Parts: sequence; C-alpha cells; structure tokens
Amino acid sequence: MRIAVLGGGPGGYAAAFEAARLGAEVTLVERERLGGTCLNWGCIPAKTILRSAHICADTRHAADYGLVAAPATVDVDALRTRKEGVVDELVGQIEATARRLKVRVVYGTGRLTAPKTIEVEFTHSGNETIAADAVILATGSIVFKLPNIDHDLEGVWTSDHAVALSEIPRDIVIIGGGVIGLEFTCAYAAFGSKVTVVELMEQVLPGNDRRVVKLAQAKLEEMGVTFHLGDAVESVERHGARMLSTLRSGGVLESDIVMSAVGRVPNSAGFGFDTVGLEFDRRAIKTDEHFRTNLEGVFAIGDLIGGMMLAHVAEEEGVLAARNAVAELSAAGADATLASMRYDCVPACVYTFPEVAVVGSSRDGAKERGIDAVQTVSKFAANAKALGEGDSDGFVQLVAEKGTGRIIGCQLVGPHAVEIIHEVALAMAHDITVGQIAHTVHAHPTVSEVIKLAAADAASKV
Ligand code: FAD
Repeated sequence: MRIAVLGGGPGGYAAAFEAARLGAEVTLVERERLGGTCLNWGCIPAKTILRSAHICADTRHAADYGLVAAPATVDVDALRTRKEGVVDELVGQIEATARRLKVRVVYGTGRLTAPKTIEVEFTHSGNETIAADAVILATGSIVFKLPNIDHDLEGVWTSDHAVALSEIPRDIVIIGGGVIGLEFTCAYAAFGSKVTVVELMEQVLPGNDRRVVKLAQAKLEEMGVTFHLGDAVESVERHGARMLSTLRSGGVLESDIVMSAVGRVPNSAGFGFDTVGLEFDRRAIKTDEHFRTNLEGVFAIGDLIGGMMLAHVAEEEGVLAARNAVAELSAAGADATLASMRYDCVPACVYTFPEVAVVGSSRDGAKERGIDAVQTVSKFAANAKALGEGDSDGFVQLVAEKGTGRIIGCQLVGPHAVEIIHEVALAMAHDITVGQIAHTVHAHPTVSEVIKLAAADAASKV
C-alpha cells in the first residue's frame, strides 16, 4: 500500500508517520524544511521569541520581586541564534522520526499531474514521478497580502520577516490585531519598541469574548501599545528611512517598520490541484468529514482545507486522514469505518502576556445554539500560586449546561492559561461534568485551582 503525502508541515508529517505506523509505504514530499510553517516560520519561532520577551519584561519589574537588576536589552544576533537552535533541534527530531519509521522524504516541489500521481521537481536538480494508491495533500497556507500595500517595499514586513529577526524595530505599526499580530505586538513592546496596532474590527482578537479581550488589550496598553480599533491602513509609503501609514480615519502613523498580520490563506494555487479537478471553496480544498476530497483516494488536511488554521488541528487531521486512507485501501471495496474530528473541543491559544486560551462556546454562543447554560467566573486574584508568582491578573469563565453539568466552553485569560485549558478540553472530549471536575483533587498551590473553583461554582448552579 503506497501513500504519498504532499507537504511536510505538522499536518503532512503527522499523516506520513501515522500511515507508516499502520504499515504503508510512505513518501513525503517537502519543498523547504520538515516542520512547515509551524516549526520554521510560525508557532515555534514566535514562542521562542516570546520567551525572551517575557524575561526582558520581567527584568523591568525585578524590584517588585525584591530583586536588584538592570532592565535587559536585546542582543538580536544572540536571540536569532537561540531561535535557530530551537527550530533546528525540532526539525532534526522530525527528520529522525521519518528515518526511524522508514518514511522516504523527497525534497522538492510537488505537483499533481493526475489524482494519485505527484511530479516532483527536486530542490537541487532533476525530477521524479511518484505514483501512489492514495495521496494526502497538506501544502498548508501562505501569508495573505493586502492588495493596497506593496509588500516588496523595504520596511514592509509579514510574520516571515519578524521571525527572521534581522532587527528589533524602534517603532512598528502592526496591521491586524488577531493572534499573530498581538503576539508580535507583545514581544516588540516587551523588547522596548513603540508599537501601534491598527485593527479593522472594533475589538482585537475578533470573535473572542469581550471581557477576555478587554483585559488582554489593557495589559498591552500598560506595556505602552497604542490601538486604533475600527480603522484601517489605506496606504503605506516609504519616506527616506521611515514608513508612513495613512489611516482610513485620516491620520498618518510614522514608523521604522510596518508589519502586515491580516491572516493566512490556503496554499492551493500552482500545484495542479485545479487541473486534476479538485473542488474548492474559495482557496480551500473541499473535503468531507473524513478528509476525502471529491477525487477518489485523494485526501486533504490542515491549513489547506481552511477552518481552524492551527498546528494541532492540522496534526490531528493528518493522523485521521492517514487512518482513513489506510482503512479504505485495506477494506478494498468493503465499507471501511472512517474517523472524523471533534472541532468543538479544540483549544485555541494566544501567547500574549497574559495568555489567552479558549475552548468551545461562550455563554452567548451557547444561547445562539439554544443551550440553556450557566456561566461562572473564578479570578486569579484569589489564586495563591498566581499571587505568589506576582502574576494574578485574569480569570476563567466556565460555561456549563443547566440540568446536565456538561461543559459547553471555557474562556481563560491569565497566567499559564495555554496549559491549564487542557483540563477543560479533556473534560469536554470525554463528557466529564463540572461536578466531576469539582470533585477531583487539584494540587495546592496551583493555577489550575481556578478551574476547580469555577467548576464547583458551576456545579452548584446547574
Ligand atoms: P504548513 O505548516 O504550512 O506546512 C505546509 C508545508 O508544505 C510547508 O512545509 C511547505 O513548504 C510545504 N509545501 C507547500 N507546497 C508544497 C509543494 N507543492 N510541494 C512540496 N511541499 C510543499 N498554530 C498553532 O496551533 N499555534 C500557534 O501558536 C501558532 N502560531 C503561529 C505563528 C505564526 C507567526 C504563524 C505564521 C502561524 C502560527 N500558527 C500557529 C499556525 C500554524 O503554523 C499552522 O496552522 C500550521 O503550520 C499548519 O500546518 P499544515 O501542515 O497544514 O501546513
């Protein structure tokens, strides 16, 4: 059974490894580096930079902890070296796993020339035709570029430039107050840059609970960030060494760098996907809930299919698509039992200071779905561990169904939010109620105790 995977990001390599574990002969085609956007230009570089930013910000508050220390400044070359070290280590681990599982990795750009045939143009020279019994497409996403901004202009950045760490700008205008925009806002503000964020919507992190967003924004304002909400950058010009961004509201912002962080789009153009007859929904490849496209034996996953464009979503979709491909090929005509994914309990995280983490619906979302729900709030200000750490801004909101105690969602803003959200995600995935969480002993002192408190409160109300 031969399975070919196009694209070696978290979706593609997870699919390749799972298929190999299930006994398939796997070829993985990657045009740059294994690990894709996540490891090389996304999650991992961004979080590595944010770690240095956090330490930098902490040194400014050393006296609050009874310490005497000078505020840290950035050595950009050392920062870049550290980031590259972390990325290289992780890419090396993925390469080693590929070798261990006997996944053949082919470095080059792949094109579908027929539904189950990939023509690879090698990165160095030459080409190869790979014929497979099933193909999993995982070419990810690319930066969305606003048409009114010349991205080739010196001084115009995207997240790709930011993670390259050529410099830390003195001042920067960030277009887009979504997850990527705010994480870099936080990092640059912590490093001492003057940051201005321009966001089209009336709130940052659009789509998120207003109370959560309000706190996240207020903390960034305390770090010196300026926000222009409900506004847009109409044009960007370079004057000498400075960038001038003209706002729709009429003002002009001056900065060293303008960074566009307005989202990403599926990377679906130019690889023969349209010519072999794949169906699209705008730029995303259309699939059913089992990641099957309209072409038999062709699956698609990850950012390429749109939806929740997150690394852990791509990874899980990759695993499930591989299982489904193997199941279909093994069943050989008989009905195969195919896997699908539960998106309602996928956590989504923002690594600002404080962190934001969300899973499932808010109370308003529950109401829209016709669910009678209660919401309880527990604050980090009453949490011993958070107070001891001097990091007690934030709260958890837990939403549970009346009558059953089933958890509908959770919104967290505060210390370690991106870690402790998983207790709720696990509970949601396995139908554990607020009462059961409340009766689970949590170690003391831990920040996780905020969840136990919110669950106990909810259990008494449902
Ligand atoms: P990708 O990771 O984009 O991988 C696709 C791969 O396919 C790439 O390696 C590419 O080189 C290769 N490829 C493309 N076309 C071809 C071709 N024709 N032939 C051969 N190879 C090809 N997500 C999170 O969950 N958490 C985060 O904290 C987070 N932070 C992020 C921060 C930034 C700055 C960015 C940009 C993204 C972040 N993301 C985060 C999103 C995350 O990186 C993506 O959701 C994830 O990488 C998608 O995985 P994928 O496998 O679908 O695609």
